[in-house]
Amino acid sequence: MNVRYSVDVAVVGAGLAGLVAARDLVAAGHDVVVLEARERVGGRTFNGELPGGAPIELGGQWVGPGQDRMLALMGELGLGTFPTFQEGRRVAEVAGRWLEYTGRVPRIGTLALADLGRLRLALDRAARRIPLEAPWTAPDAHELDGRTFADWTRAHTRTRSARAMVRLVTEAIFSAEPEELSALWALYYFGAGGGFDSLTEVRGGAQQDRVEGGSQRVALAVAAELGDRVRQAHPVTDITWEADQVVLRTPAAEFRARRAVVAVPPPLAARIRYSPGLPGDRDQLTQRMPMGRVIKVHLVYGEPFWRADGYTGEANSDVRPLGTVLDSTPGDGGPGVLTGFFEGAHADAMARLSVAERRGRAVDDLTAYFGPIARYAIDYLELDWAAEEWSRGCYGAFAAPGTLTRFGPALRTPVGPLHWAGTETAVRWAGYMDGAVESGHRAAAEVAKALNGGGTEG
Ligand code: FAD
Repeated sequence: MNVRYSVDVAVVGAGLAGLVAARDLVAAGHDVVVLEARERVGGRTFNGELPGGAPIELGGQWVGPGQDRMLALMGELGLGTFPTFQEGRRVAEVAGRWLEYTGRVPRIGTLALADLGRLRLALDRAARRIPLEAPWTAPDAHELDGRTFADWTRAHTRTRSARAMVRLVTEAIFSAEPEELSALWALYYFGAGGGFDSLTEVRGGAQQDRVEGGSQRVALAVAAELGDRVRQAHPVTDITWEADQVVLRTPAAEFRARRAVVAVPPPLAARIRYSPGLPGDRDQLTQRMPMGRVIKVHLVYGEPFWRADGYTGEANSDVRPLGTVLDSTPGDGGPGVLTGFFEGAHADAMARLSVAERRGRAVDDLTAYFGPIARYAIDYLELDWAAEEWSRGCYGAFAAPGTLTRFGPALRTPVGPLHWAGTETAVRWAGYMDGAVESGHRAAAEVAKALNGGGTEG
């Protein structure tokens, strides 16, 4: 017989979303338990260790302007930021041309630059027309949701170089290919993150700053506040629910609660067995929201050699497996770190190789970007997020065509005593740490209202 516990609210998942929901509910005086499958908290934020002991993020890393909820939480926890290194030239390989540049975009040629400029304008304009709380109510929602992002961007570009930039940017932002995404989802996502420049830029954008001590510290600090309310190694396998009660089962114990917050990505929420089964809309939605794929790698060097050569350490390519690279050297100097991402289809292909082969491919690409000295890495760290049992991909889930207009409202609508959180349910900065924090606050407010007799509507 399993051990039985009784609480007001059970939260599934100790990522940022679940932890923030629990923190709010505890502050409101409720008895809460957080059930986490892994033997650690933080979910898609996870600190690794560089030689010498400095922390380095294997998951979510950067924060930027406009990410007000994440920054406010960090402020409450006494955690600071430091800027991403940005002095010098960036490197890009676009449609077969090598470019070095210091402005916002590489000089891909006059025609192509104008083409890309028009695309950015069209994209930001279209994104602004999408109501972030309900993208499926946009005036042209059905038209947009019936096409892929590849199709939409092809219709808004003419040059090979601008189309190559679209692929590069899509892989970097969505960790998926433009052919996989609903245009409505992609445009909503750009809108939720403040537009094209906001998502793609370092200075003034989502990659501007880093969290002192590594981003997992945020989750670790909230978990420390929550103390033994957080139960690690407690994967929730079954949820049995009725109007005003829910029972959650893990292999070790059973938790009875008045409400539950499921704060895991949609595809993982779908792997829990619900009894009675969830409404068709909710299940169809989670069947159509796969995770992006990323293998994040860090190549460690004795020092950040690229800085002496006048490079920021930022590099991008529309064809190379390591398509996105940034400087992740610790704030106080220390070893030089180049952080790269195998994303989308590249991540799928690289996942089939051995660690040694992947390291070789990463070094080959860094050598192409920054010269032969890049071969002399002293260490290599990597994490394949699609292989992680309790993430199955990242940065986030995305919606395939035809999903949002048919099943979108099921993303946040509570089902009986079950509430949904997680970055994918956010209105602002969906897919980002900030979106996770927003969703935790929103779910906690819903639950608090319901517990106080105010019903379940969000
Ligand atoms: P998660 O962190 O996924 O939390 C869900 C939790 O639920 C996990 O701890 C999981 O173990 C647990 N769980 C799953 N199933 C169960 C179950 N059945 N029972 C119990 N527990 C369960 N964001 C940024 O803002 N900036 C970045 O630079 C950035 N870069 C990224 C790079 C990578 C490589 C990755 C992986 C992510 C990145 N992100 C970034 C995204 C960001 O990390 C996520 O949006 C955010 O951390 C998601 O938080 P969450 O709480 O919604 O979900």
